[in-house]
Amino acid sequence: MVVTRFAPSPTGFLHIGGLRTALFSYLWARKNKGRFLLRIEDTDLARNSEEATKAILEAFEWVKMERDGVIEYQSKRFDIYAEYIDKLLANGDAYYCYMSKEELDALREEQQKRGERPRYDGRYRDGKLPPKEGVAPVVRIKVPTSGSIVFDDGVKGRVEFGADQLDDFIIARSDKTPTYNFVVAIDDRLMGVTDVIRGDDHLSNTPKQIAVYQAFGWEIPRFFHVPMILNGEGKKLSKRDGATNVMDYRANGYLPEALLNFLARLGWSHGDQEIFSREELLEFFDPKDINRSASAFNASKLLWINHEHIKAQSDDRLIETLKNDFDADLSGFENQSKLLKLCKEKAQTLTALAIEAKKFVLRPTSYNPKDLSRVTEDNLAIVERFLDFAALRQDFHGAIEEFLKIENIKMPQLGKPLRIAVFGEASGAGLVETLEILGIKEIKIRLQALKKCVK
Ligand code: GLU
Repeated sequence: MVVTRFAPSPTGFLHIGGLRTALFSYLWARKNKGRFLLRIEDTDLARNSEEATKAILEAFEWVKMERDGVIEYQSKRFDIYAEYIDKLLANGDAYYCYMSKEELDALREEQQKRGERPRYDGRYRDGKLPPKEGVAPVVRIKVPTSGSIVFDDGVKGRVEFGADQLDDFIIARSDKTPTYNFVVAIDDRLMGVTDVIRGDDHLSNTPKQIAVYQAFGWEIPRFFHVPMILNGEGKKLSKRDGATNVMDYRANGYLPEALLNFLARLGWSHGDQEIFSREELLEFFDPKDINRSASAFNASKLLWINHEHIKAQSDDRLIETLKNDFDADLSGFENQSKLLKLCKEKAQTLTALAIEAKKFVLRPTSYNPKDLSRVTEDNLAIVERFLDFAALRQDFHGAIEEFLKIENIKMPQLGKPLRIAVFGEASGAGLVETLEILGIKEIKIRLQALKKCVK
């Protein structure tokens, strides 16, 4: 069984980079009929907040990435970690180290002088030095002193860290709290995680976590280190490149399936297909197709993908989302599907779609002053005559052409005042679409309202 997990540190909102590794983990578990777990890495009490955990859960709910099992919180598992630290101490695979900060600094300085990489020198290993009275020791794990730690990364291929790149690192601080790499390894093992998919900023942590697995004689999971998302200039993605908070995409009118589609394609591909439904992602996703190099965030591509998903949305779902999230209620509107067809073509985001739809659904409450100042009673009389003329016809397109000929006028002389009446401004949708969506009767009502404002 494939078991994956997403293990965020709740220090802020859910970042789109985080959502992407979560998505890969989710797809891989679901595709294999496995389990997708959620673990909150909240041991850094100073930097973590409950708010952030809530924000992560909210984002998961929005994108409908359901997890399995209960959420594990590392902050509630300290007893478990202490038990495993004791086990290593008892077996002689970990030991107490009494080195002070001054001693560590001195060691580092010496090593740097000799041009060596600073690392702990193992001076308390195997009881080489006696304990110091009155000093609270840290616990260090014994890592191999020769050879190397090798693993086959599912994205990067064979990765090797020589023993000289590792030292006996601290697994419990002097206040007995466990350290990051230790708890990650313990939790992944106890939660039965088989496939660890995470950002490649964690690659250098992996040999340490493997050292923990090896100390316990556990089989190591498969690792997949996913390259970062960069901006167009090849730098780390930041706020300046667009929203990095997943929930901002909701507020800005993106569909969750579009965001997931976009994120999946950032760093993964399936032939040259760009648009994927959730079902297709589930069918085609395989971490072996994750790109080896970093991928660049491209806001206009996201917009395009969003538009494609908006076009593919069912009217019912769109109506529900517009009502719940964008304050646009189409429920009582007669020509819903005609209206949505027009709006779907025009709008790349739900925000734009709501604005467009509301122009039809809501009668104008004010008029663009400049446009209004140009409207004359004669203009309105033309529109009125046209509406009576068009009311007898099926084909609005033909009706417009014929009417312009009969009256010997040009399109703007009809179109502008009609649009001001309908939308409150001279620009807007095409006349035929407007007639078809609103109907003559409604346009007449709006025309009467405009009349009252024209002297
Ligand atoms: N908590 C880590 C983070 O938020 C992820 C750890 C992991 O996936 O192993 O970056």
